[in-house]
Order: sequence, then structure tokens, then C-alpha cells
Amino acid sequence: MEDKEKWKIYRKKWRDKNQERIKAYNKEYNKTRDKEKIKAYQKEYNQKPKTEEQKERYRKYQNEYHKKYQKGRGREKYLLRSLAQRKFRKQIISKRKKCEECGSMENLELHHKNYEENIEENVILLCKVCHKRVHNNI
Ligand SMILES: [Zn+2]
Ligand SMILES: [Zn+2]
Repeated sequence: MEDKEKWKIYRKKWRDKNQERIKAYNKEYNKTRDKEKIKAYQKEYNQKPKTEEQKERYRKYQNEYHKKYQKGRGREKYLLRSLAQRKFRKQIISKRKKCEECGSMENLELHHKNYEENIEENVILLCKVCHKRVHNNI
């Protein structure tokens, strides 16, 4: 058997044995690639002067980003990520203490009636289950 063939068989065996590892590696790789992409976009945007082509590309990227986070759970999660938001959530929980739908005191989350303003009147305190139900309109 030729060396090339042997090598091929060896590689195949290795891949079969290490499937999980390869999968994990690819996942990590894709994650960093996304991060790199975002970094590159940001860098490009901060660079001056900006060409029309760069501006156009950045606009496209921003549109995609906003579409993703504009409404629903995505937007809500995005809002809740900031430190101020977490504080706000804690405040509401310590005041209202339970789900406003079913009275549960576990896994409490904020639901936004709209996403314009982060004020108390604008949010409802719900448990995870009721919150899901609200978003899925069940
Ligand atoms: Zn509930
Ligand atoms: Zn919600």
C-alpha cells in the first residue's frame, strides 16, 4: 500500500474517533470568526475617511443587527444584558416578588409591554413559563 493511502486511512480513523472533539473545535472556531467579523466591521467604521462602499457595507451590517434585535425575545434579551437593566430587574423583583400571571416566585423575568422605555410602568414581572406563553401567544 502506498503511503498516501495509509495516511488517508489513518486520518479517517482519527476523525471517527474524535468526532466530538472536532465538532467542539469547529464551534469555537465559528464563534471567534463571528467576533473577528464584528471587530473588523467596527474597525472599518471608525476609520476615516470612509468610502461609499464601506458606508454601504456598514449600513447593511447594522440593518441585519437591528432586525435581529428589534422585536420580541431577541430585543428583550438584548436590553436585559446591560448592568443597569439587571439592577432594574432586581428592583422590580424585590418590589413585586411574584409572577403577575400565576403568582410563582421562581425564575422571574421582565416582560416589556413595549421596548421604548425602561420604566416600571412598562414592564410586567413574569415567571419563565408565563413569559414564554406571552411571547408564543398561547
Ligand atoms: Zn407565571
Ligand atoms: Zn417578554
